[in-house]
Amino acid sequence: MTKINFAGIIDHSTLDYAKKSAAVIYLCGCPYRCPWCQNPELVFGKGCEMVEIDEIIKNLNKNFLIDAVCVTGGEPLMQENTCELLKKIKQETDLLLKMDHNCYFPGRLKKALLYLDFFTTDIKAPLDERYGKAVGLPGRWEKIVFNVKKSHEILKQWSGRKETRTTVVPTLVDTKEDIKEIAKVVQDIGFEIYTLQQFRPGKTLDPGFKFIRSPELAKMKELGKTAKKYLPGTKVQIVTQENGFEEIKI
Ligand code: SF4
Repeated sequence: MTKINFAGIIDHSTLDYAKKSAAVIYLCGCPYRCPWCQNPELVFGKGCEMVEIDEIIKNLNKNFLIDAVCVTGGEPLMQENTCELLKKIKQETDLLLKMDHNCYFPGRLKKALLYLDFFTTDIKAPLDERYGKAVGLPGRWEKIVFNVKKSHEILKQWSGRKETRTTVVPTLVDTKEDIKEIAKVVQDIGFEIYTLQQFRPGKTLDPGFKFIRSPELAKMKELGKTAKKYLPGTKVQIVTQENGFEEIKI
C-alpha cells in the first residue's frame, strides 16, 4: 500500500479545470521558497498527513459530481509517489486529470505527463539569476534554472493541453523587460494560454512581502500588452482583484 503526504481535498470546484467540475487534491512540500507564496503551510507540511493512495482513489470514485481532478500543492512532484497517484487516477477512474507543477523535477515530470490531460505551470521570472530571487533561493539559481530549462524541453515535445502564468510581484518580476523575456519562453514551448496574475499581499511566506502593494491595474494591462506583442497566436490574459480575468488583445 503506497502512501502520500496529503494536505486535503476539495470535493467539487468549478474554477480549477476549465469548463469541468473537478476535485482538487492538495499535496505537501515544495523545493522553492517564493517569498510571495500564499500557501506556506503546504510548503512546510503543516497539517499534512500520510494517506493511502487507494483511499484517495476510492473517494474519487464515490464522487458523482465531478468529471475531472486537479493535483496541486505545494509542489506535487516533490514526492516520488505522486506518479503512482496519477497513474491510478488515470487507470482506475474515468476522470480527466490536470496537474500543476513548478518545473523543478524534469525526471518525474516526464513520467507524470504520461497520465495527464492538462498541465499547468508558472514561469516565475526570466531564466537567469532573477529566477533564484523569485523563488527565494538566490544562491541556488543555476541548479534551479538548469532543471527548469530541462523541464521546458520535455514540455516542448508534449502535445497535451498546457497553460502557464507569471505572478507580477513588485521588486521581483514587474518590468516590461522581464515579461518580454518570459513571453519568448512561452512562445518557444507552445503554451496555449499565458496569464499574468497580480500579486496579492496578506498571508505570504516571507513576512516582508505582507505589506507590499499589489501592482496597479494599469500596470497589469501594460504588461499584458507587452506579452501579447510577443505572443500573437497565444491567448494572453491578466487576472486582477479589480476586474477578474481579462483577455488582452492588441
Ligand atoms: S508559490 Fe513557490 S513556494 Fe509556494 S508552493 Fe508554489 S512554488 Fe512552492
